[in-house]
Amino acid sequence: MEENKFVTLTIEKQKNIALIAHDKKKEELIEWCNKHKDILKNHFLCGTGTTARMITDRTNLPVRGYNSGPLGGDQQIGAKIVEGKVNLIIFFSDPLTAQPHDPDVKALLRIAQVYDIPIANNRATADFIITSPYMNSEYERKVLNFSLNIKERAQTL
Ligand code: PGA
Repeated sequence: MEENKFVTLTIEKQKNIALIAHDKKKEELIEWCNKHKDILKNHFLCGTGTTARMITDRTNLPVRGYNSGPLGGDQQIGAKIVEGKVNLIIFFSDPLTAQPHDPDVKALLRIAQVYDIPIANNRATADFIITSPYMNSEYERKVLNFSLNIKERAQTL
């Protein structure tokens, strides 16, 4: 039988959510976390260093902090997506300020796309996601079958 080009992976009911905000958006994300605290407290939270610390300080939600974004935090979160350990991202990025780590930000957006991970980059999208029925149930995401992909590439390249 032909192997499937895609595999489905489950986003569990209890989600691993990464929270990230650029500096001028941190206040907005903290406010958003406070507003949705009752939902967020039912999930595992992590984030880039400064964002994680500020959310914990101001909301009491436990947020595991990785490195600060410009020092590799976005890349750490990207790696967790690849490992299947982060499966939802709320990322309030700043469209009006140049970021020194712009390539890392792009890489995170790209890897979230590759792994079919829901990612909100503004408040409206975040509101839609957090109130989705999928927040309370499992969700099957569709991901390229990487072992098949490697097998085919190794045979043809
Ligand atoms: P920070 O990083 O939470 O450490 O500020 C966020 C970012 O700029 O990506």
